[in-house]
Amino acid sequence: MRKQMVLHYRHWLIRCAPERVAGFWCAAVEVWRPARDPENAGEIVPLTKLFDDAADACVDGLEAAKRWIDARSGGVPPAIDAQAHLVANVSDTVSPVTMLILGRPLCLPCIATKARATEADAQAALTSIGALRDLRRRDHERCRGCGEVRRAFWLDAPSR
Ligand SMILES: [Zn+2]
Repeated sequence: MRKQMVLHYRHWLIRCAPERVAGFWCAAVEVWRPARDPENAGEIVPLTKLFDDAADACVDGLEAAKRWIDARSGGVPPAIDAQAHLVANVSDTVSPVTMLILGRPLCLPCIATKARATEADAQAALTSIGALRDLRRRDHERCRGCGEVRRAFWLDAPSR
């Protein structure tokens, strides 16, 4: 199964998919400039970091994509691009959290740590995800991050 994340940032399209590299995970990240047809090949964001975990690789890959896009959006300070930035921020938190908990129960502190977000942001992301998808939640579940039995959240992985 190959998980892929798609999101918009500053009107760019980002696609991020984990790839197995030498026994580790690396994110394969492709970006498309605004109004560019995603049917055509995008620009490959060069990545070198390797991770033990596919979701961690994707979180890092998305950050690299945002830095890549920021560097190519010169002359447009984020403040002027406020609306796009706001949309990006919302989906930026939601998407990594979705990726993290796909088929993997995690407690809130672990979600926040892995998504590099505050617990409040992670909680907000879970609320958003729960509005769109069937978010699973159990009070006494073994967190796959820290191993503690506590309240955990997850999404059933798509059976494809
Ligand atoms: Zn945990």
